[in-house]
This record gives sequence, structure tokens and C-alpha cells, in this order.
Amino acid sequence: MEYRQEREAVLAAARRTVASGLTHGTAGNVSMRIPPGMLITPTGLEYERLTPEEVVATGLDGVPLPGERWAPSSEWPLHAAVYAARPEIGAVVHGHAPAASAFSCLGRDLPPFHYMIAAAGGDSIRCAEYALFGTPELAAQALRALTDRRACFLAHHGLLTLGTDLPAALALAVEVEHLADLFLRLLPLGEPARLSGAEMAAVLARFATYGQQPKG
Ligand code: 13P
Ligand code: ZN
Repeated sequence: MEYRQEREAVLAAARRTVASGLTHGTAGNVSMRIPPGMLITPTGLEYERLTPEEVVATGLDGVPLPGERWAPSSEWPLHAAVYAARPEIGAVVHGHAPAASAFSCLGRDLPPFHYMIAAAGGDSIRCAEYALFGTPELAAQALRALTDRRACFLAHHGLLTLGTDLPAALALAVEVEHLADLFLRLLPLGEPARLSGAEMAAVLARFATYGQQPKG
């Protein structure tokens, strides 16, 4: 089977979204870029019961490559739009995580109330305008909200994160869900104070050298 390791990685990441509370049931979808298009979870099937062969290889037109068994996620236009518009992105994670989904129903951007907002690439995490799930309209709204960002909320729906690879997209989803949860805890106490543009710029600059760096 072609893309065996990659299919295993997509399925493992998809299972982790459920195990990490980033989604539940058949909500959410995970994909990874491959040369002809993407590997994406099949629509409407629980990850627990899937085998790697059941992850669907499609072109960026959503058409399964010859020999694929299932139809791809209904959100394939969203994933395909990201791969077409963002060449640096190698993986996409979408989930209906509780805090992020609740926050998305407010239809507002997450402000820089905590320095980790910068993990998504800027000084806010935007909320894309509502559009029907699985439509090119939703993909277009998400792409707008993702300008200079690797995460956005989908209004009245959930969370979308991008990464250079699956671990990066997953880690960002965990982080954004945590931030949304913090914000929802703060809201009843009143609007929290925001970090300034200069403070957020300093965080972004520091992120460039944060963590383990190549030696030498
Ligand atoms: P799929 O089962 O088609 O991936 O759809 C789930 C979902 O979250 C739609 O937004
Ligand atoms: Zn969804």
C-alpha cells in the first residue's frame, strides 16, 4: 500500500485528537500533505475502528486516488484550501473541542490576554465567519481568518489548526483549546486585560529561539 507510514501517522494523530479531548465521536478531521494532494480521515467514521488503509488519499480536488475505499472527510475543501494557499503547511487538524467550540459561538477573536496567543503566529486568534460545514464558503472564511496565523476558530463550530507536520498541528490544537478554556473562565469576571502590541511582538521574537536549538 502506498503511503503506509503516512497513513499510520494520520490515523495515530486522529486518535490522539479524541484521546486529548480535542474532539469526540465522528466530529473533526485530520490530514497530511502528500505530493499528489493529501491523506485525510474518511467522513463519518470513528477513528478507533479504522485501519491505516482506510485513511483516504485524494487530490486537492477531493477526488480519491484510484483504489481508495472510503469518501474523504466532508471538510476536504477546507483542508485542500489550506494546502493550496499555504505551501509551508504539512498538516491540518480540525476538532470540536469543548472550550474552543463554546468560544467559537461568541463569534469573536481571542485577544492577547495571555502570551501564548502568539503560538498561533500573531497577537490574536481570529474567528472565521460562520459558513455551512463542508462547503467552499467555510474554506474561504477560514483562509481569511488564518492570514499570518496557524490557528482560527470556526464560528458556531470549532477549532482549526495548521502545522508544518502532524505533531505541530496537534500541539497547537491542544494549546488553543487551553487558551479558550482560560478565556471562558475569565469572562464571567469581566474582560481580562490585554498585552500590548510591543509585549506581543517581544513574545513572537523570543519564540524564534525558544526550545531546543540545533547545536553548533
Ligand atoms: P467528517 O466526519 O466528514 O470529517 O466531518 C466532521 C466535521 O467535523 C465536519 O465539520
Ligand atoms: Zn467540524
